[in-house]
Amino acid sequence: MLEDRRLSEETRQRMSRPFQMLIGGKWCDSSSGRTLAVLNPATGEQIAVIPEGDAGDVDLAVEAATAAFVRKLWSGLAPGRRSAILWRAADLIDQRARELAELETLDNGKPLTAALGMDLPMAASVFRYWAGWCTKIAGTAPVVDLPGDFAAMTVKEPVGVVGLIVPWNFPLLNAAVKLGPALAAGCTVVLKPAEQASLTTLCLGEILLEAGVPPGAVNIVTGLGAVAGARIAEHPGIAKISFTGSTAVGKQLIAASQGNLKRLTLELGGKSPAIVLPDADLSRAVPAVANGIFRNAGQICAAASRLLVHRSLFDQTVEGIVQLARQHVLGDGLDPSTTLGPVISQAQFRRVLGMIEDARQAGGDIITGGGAVERPGYFVEPTVIAGVSATKGIAVDEVFGPVLVALPFDDAEEAVQLANTTEYGLSASIWTRDIGQAHRLARAVHAGTVTINSGMIAGPGLPFGGFKQSGWGREGGAEGLDAYLETKTIVTSF
Ligand code: NAD
Repeated sequence: MLEDRRLSEETRQRMSRPFQMLIGGKWCDSSSGRTLAVLNPATGEQIAVIPEGDAGDVDLAVEAATAAFVRKLWSGLAPGRRSAILWRAADLIDQRARELAELETLDNGKPLTAALGMDLPMAASVFRYWAGWCTKIAGTAPVVDLPGDFAAMTVKEPVGVVGLIVPWNFPLLNAAVKLGPALAAGCTVVLKPAEQASLTTLCLGEILLEAGVPPGAVNIVTGLGAVAGARIAEHPGIAKISFTGSTAVGKQLIAASQGNLKRLTLELGGKSPAIVLPDADLSRAVPAVANGIFRNAGQICAAASRLLVHRSLFDQTVEGIVQLARQHVLGDGLDPSTTLGPVISQAQFRRVLGMIEDARQAGGDIITGGGAVERPGYFVEPTVIAGVSATKGIAVDEVFGPVLVALPFDDAEEAVQLANTTEYGLSASIWTRDIGQAHRLARAVHAGTVTINSGMIAGPGLPFGGFKQSGWGREGGAEGLDAYLETKTIVTSF
């Protein structure tokens, strides 16, 4: 692989050096010496190893983060200085964009064009956004409604050491989304990337140190979720966890983190509807829904995985999306012609194909796709399924793969009822030229983000998170920052 001429010199050099964990500002192996294999999902081949950190390694990382927090190595810096460091981190991400994008493609499988076009610029912009907040975190001066003279003020303080647990679908970007507000708030961090894709997060550790984040303020432990992640969940020295991943693990975290009543932000699964009303502009809706479900091989929590379309437009809409599905070129993400990469792992590959097979068995009509691609790696064809029950199986369960379920409806009321059928409530899109109707539906749908005549829109300034079992709390914007802060009320009598 190091001879692969498609890779830049920087990437080949980085791949020739070991990937280690970051604890207390030092790069280290796991204390057990054990490692995990890193596989390229486009080939199934091993490309590197990462340390298999365990509970003891997490404990060392928490110790380092606690020492940095208590000594105010990070929160004690002037806000403008912290801002400059986060901004510098963004500049360094831009400088290393090609290398980081190539590593993301090797590790996660996504097309290089997607990593370069989206993951990398967004990760940099996330750090720039949060750099701006460092100098703007302020309290209030509330009124004390009692006889006598009082002056009351609130101040915002960092919550403490935070545990950040990240999934593999947007490894670098998801790490940035959590690190940005945690660091802007003045917290110190123990970060655990997903075992399936940790490489770029470790590079981000290099970048943060180079940018000037003090030793111990950001610690990165690689390892298995059930071991290293579980220790973060229960560790009494961690004040808050921000987790992105499956609803099942989110529930485990709730139970495991009770010992010290950790604050929890949970960004969990989704089964997001795209609602196409009879007057929709299909020239916009069709490509947006196709992109919303097939991008990143459908491995997006807010993927448009349920197409709810008015019966009068059903065939036309589905046909348009099927045409776009068939145009995808599946392959190695380093190949410039590739538009769709593999799913992350053999386990995910089997899971997605198993869910498609269950839908077939249940009488579902597989309009396009439905199978694996005959080549090495974990490639699933972009798939469109109709004719399934709207209330069970693949119509309501999250696939986390390139699989769209299309369901017809007869009126807006039924569309809302279908939209709200699942246990999730992460996002929804509404397609119509009637803006009043769009807003009525936007208010009726149970979802954290609703877009009107647009695919999913997310950004660091926009609160993002879920209703129902899609999670707790919001990331992004002032609300996202607040999740890393405590409010202290100080009252003076004079
Ligand atoms: P996962 O829940 O298995 O893993 C996510 C992270 O949690 C990984 O770092 C993993 O190592 C860790 N983890 C696993 N078990 C743990 C445990 N017992 N204790 C602590 N940490 C543990 O999810 P996944 O399969 O990696 O990712 C896919 C899921 O993530 C999908 O369900 C998807 O909807 C969800 N997701 C949600 C969002 C969102 O913003 N809502 C974004 C991306 C992915």
